[in-house]
Amino acid sequence: MSNNPKKSDVILIGAGVMSATLGTLLKELAPEWEIKVFEKLANAGEESSNEWNNAGTGHAALCELNYTTEKADGSVDISKAIKINEQFQLSRQFWSYLVKRSIIERPQEFIMPIPHMSLVQGEDNVTFLKKRFKALSTNPLFEGMEYTEEESKLNEWIPLIMEGRTSKEPIAATKIDSGTDVNFGALTRILFDQLEKQNVELNYRHSVEDIKRAADGSWEVKVQDLENAKTEYHKAKFVFIGGGGGSLPLLQKTGIPESKQIGGFPVSGLFLVCNKPEVVEKHHAKVYGKAKVGAPPMSVPHLDTRYIDQKKSLLFGPFAGFTPKFLKTGSNLDLFGSVKPNNVLTMLAAGVKEMSLTKYLIQQVLLSNEKRIEELREFIPTAKLEDWDIVVAGQRVQVIKDTEAGGKGTLQFGTEVVSAADGSIAALLGASPGASTAVHVMLEVLQKCFPEHINEWENKIKEMVPSYGISLVENPSFFKEIHASTAETLGLSEKEPVLH
Ligand SMILES: Cc1cc2nc3c(=O)[nH]c(=O)nc-3n(C[C@H](O)[C@H](O)[C@H](O)COP(=O)(O)OP(=O)(O)OC[C@H]3O[C@@H](n4cnc5c(N)ncnc54)[C@H](O)[C@@H]3O)c2cc1C
Repeated sequence: MSNNPKKSDVILIGAGVMSATLGTLLKELAPEWEIKVFEKLANAGEESSNEWNNAGTGHAALCELNYTTEKADGSVDISKAIKINEQFQLSRQFWSYLVKRSIIERPQEFIMPIPHMSLVQGEDNVTFLKKRFKALSTNPLFEGMEYTEEESKLNEWIPLIMEGRTSKEPIAATKIDSGTDVNFGALTRILFDQLEKQNVELNYRHSVEDIKRAADGSWEVKVQDLENAKTEYHKAKFVFIGGGGGSLPLLQKTGIPESKQIGGFPVSGLFLVCNKPEVVEKHHAKVYGKAKVGAPPMSVPHLDTRYIDQKKSLLFGPFAGFTPKFLKTGSNLDLFGSVKPNNVLTMLAAGVKEMSLTKYLIQQVLLSNEKRIEELREFIPTAKLEDWDIVVAGQRVQVIKDTEAGGKGTLQFGTEVVSAADGSIAALLGASPGASTAVHVMLEVLQKCFPEHINEWENKIKEMVPSYGISLVENPSFFKEIHASTAETLGLSEKEPVLH
């Protein structure tokens, strides 16, 4: 690309929570490495990681019904819930380590305790929730979960949801107090501020336009300085593509075989937000319901207490939508530009397969505000249109690929690390469970991309994340100890946190 690119050890593309986490891990493991970050926006954490662009749920499978499925024999499969819970425990441990190291000074700026609840209506759903509760509550990771069908208890747990409820359908809920609300935007900003203090070069308003393999096997990155309309060339032995929705087009530019036959489908999101103190004060939980029939898993409706800038508000949604943009700040050409000769059949197959998703998205796009409030009234029967505003959330680019189980063009709902065989470049695709599992996913990047260092790093990783490589579900006393100590360090022990 250029005769004279500027060299560094590591280039991180994008200043979201994923690059923030990877950069922080690397600075602890290899402090002497030179790291550069390129972010096209003016600040860190402005896209999906921003507090208003996601729901801020610390996903630990404490309330999300889509992480537990009913098997053909009627029993409930909790294996995915266990996996996600264990992954969130890694995040809690790493964040606690950062608090102890004073890299994070005030954890309440980004994490707050909030009960997580599942709420269902109708006989079949109540039967399912009861079975799910039985399966989870006897598992050490979900200890403390409560279940009720009693109106008096529900009035106590969710007064706003019960007020004015006339439906005679059976209703049931589970509640666990160890849930969290996480401000991933604040976390991202804290981590990048600290990285800057540790001499990481942060280049905002710098858009990465191209990535090519250099003759020596390292990577050359073409960067547009948006402030001065100048083109720069940089080179590194390792590149992480943490561009969120923007990762797929950049991965495609690398031309690595692993980037082929992969497509992306963007799903946008809207939330309703209430800041009216009289309403906000009546609710104190994240309450997850059940996705409507035919709706994708990320459309599970939920009513959340949020803590943003030390202020409480309520969030309801998400309502899905469609724009062809891969980033909220992206271009309408993103989707079409991502269709290449090597993935066109995969994309077409997905188009044919996912008719129900297409139908669902069209219905969602056509929803009027009144219709959205009607959906909200299934949660809060007394909700008034004038108390709620609309917030446009981030874009989720769902991965489409050919899989053995699903066949050609299968839509994926998880996150996925795609890396070159030699580990010199990695990209993160997909969006769920997302930011909550950033530490787990970035540890996976380290394992895949730095096999020659991982043994020498193991002790340090265990210092930062004591349960690294250990199954917590199989070591309940270790889990208890870790859960209690991270709760203490992160200030999650109090039920009703004090806002400072
Ligand atoms: C509606 C919604 C609700 C969600 N709810 C939750 C939740 O409750 N809990 C949870 O854990 N997760 C949730 N998520 C997922 C979570 O937000 C994401 O997984 C996470 O923020 C992704 O972080 P990231 O760093 O990969 O991407 P981002 O935060 O999007 O950061 C990527 C950055 O890369 C930059 N970039 C892109 N292309 C380029 C380029 N070419 N050059 C330079 N810079 C570039 C972008 O500007 C951006 O700043 C939700 C997501 C959405 C959309």
